[in-house]
Amino acid sequence: MTDLTRMTATDLAGLVASGETSAVEVTRAHLDRIAAVDDRVHAFLHVDTEGALAAARAVDERRAAGEQLGPLAGVPVAVKDVLTTKGVPTTVGSKILEGWRPPYDATIVQRLQAAGTVMLGKTNMDEFAMGSSTEYSAYGPTHNPWDTDRIPGGSGGGSAAALAAYEAPLAIGSDTGGSIRQPGAVTGTVGAKPTYGGTSRYGLVAFSSSLDTPGPCARTVLDAALLHQVIGGHDPRDSTSIPQPVPDVVAAAKLGATGDLTGVKLGIVREFTGEGAEPGVMAAFRESVDTLAKLGAEIVEVSCPHFRYALPAYYLIAPSECSSNLARFDGVRFGLRVGDDGNRSLEEVMSLTREAGFGAEVKRRIMVGTYALSSGYYDAYYGQAQKVRTLITRDFTTAFEQVDALISPTTPFVAFPIGARTADPYQMYLADLFTIPTNLYGGPGISVPCGLSEGLPVGLQVMAPTMADDRMYRVAAALESVVGTFTPPAL
Ligand code: GLN
Repeated sequence: MTDLTRMTATDLAGLVASGETSAVEVTRAHLDRIAAVDDRVHAFLHVDTEGALAAARAVDERRAAGEQLGPLAGVPVAVKDVLTTKGVPTTVGSKILEGWRPPYDATIVQRLQAAGTVMLGKTNMDEFAMGSSTEYSAYGPTHNPWDTDRIPGGSGGGSAAALAAYEAPLAIGSDTGGSIRQPGAVTGTVGAKPTYGGTSRYGLVAFSSSLDTPGPCARTVLDAALLHQVIGGHDPRDSTSIPQPVPDVVAAAKLGATGDLTGVKLGIVREFTGEGAEPGVMAAFRESVDTLAKLGAEIVEVSCPHFRYALPAYYLIAPSECSSNLARFDGVRFGLRVGDDGNRSLEEVMSLTREAGFGAEVKRRIMVGTYALSSGYYDAYYGQAQKVRTLITRDFTTAFEQVDALISPTTPFVAFPIGARTADPYQMYLADLFTIPTNLYGGPGISVPCGLSEGLPVGLQVMAPTMADDRMYRVAAALESVVGTFTPPAL
């Protein structure tokens, strides 16, 4: 019998729609797989067995009643623990939210339900989505299915590892500085960061509100596009949501899969010289550039002189916004409360709760952000970083006058061993070197597997103009049509 966990979401939905298999069977197969491997992977913080089976049964009943089902009906999905799920634990990888069951669903979760997808559970992540390895989760690291001694990327390492370990065919992530794309790259899966405002932040626990972008993760470009289509689009409950429909990313992925890129002009960023990147990553990237050229794309070099300041600017802007956003975790409204014995002041309880509830990296960011925003330092730090952000946006605008999309490696290095970069925060931040410019600009970016280096996956990033998400799907699908999908050695 075919192993349902090895199939694409597209194929699973087809089997459910035709009645060849049921949503319940598909869901059970994935729950069994999670039971068999997740003690080694630790992709999930919470598996919602009952909820998943109930959702699957509902899909089967709708089908039996002759209802028309959506394109992903009956397909399981793993949701990063940064999105609120009504009655289902939501921790954001932090002790401060341990035990919290949100009273409402995020818009994306509602849309997943409306589409008939089946939520398997919540995936592990760096605490408050701050990190590049999932080692900063308060609940222990996730292991990369390619080599369980290595990191699966971060912050959304749980979602990416769940895909690579065949625990789920689809997953949701969030990308503030690369947290969908970099885990995708190092696990050999596809991760797409939509245009900022193209997917709703309602119910997404805020890290850096001007950058946070939820998006799709999958094993194929078409699956990612189908998921993008389901979750994307305007949401009146998110003030920065773009009041326009999602570009036709599914059609673009199908067009790309024909393997013809004639007439498409792609730019290589001159300033991404490869300095700081592993030679094996650069080699895989260059090989992919040749492949894209063979498919008909015209490749040119473009200059984005301010990209080199993106990392420092991000590491001022994101902490500044987080220092404000995380003020709501005060031991009163949500989750953990420490020291409330009737004798302590409110301030003391807040302080004890935050001391116990936040991990070291989160505290570091709150302190950096508070400092950068403080009077006397604001102009020198936050103000400067905002100016850099404007210059980076101009670099993108100029580049997109010359080319349809930009390409680069997704991340400078392949999955590194657990523990290798935790001693020095800067070493961890370097993982985001190539992904951060896109977040500062607000455009879409996708990571697609492009090769191996030392037996570990390498990702190629495609960056497109805002609201031209379809372009990146076309290029990614074209590359995938040649290099194929990647299967980790058996767990
Ligand atoms: N690694 C980056 C950070 O630590 C990106 C995080 C993200 O995209 N959520 O901030």
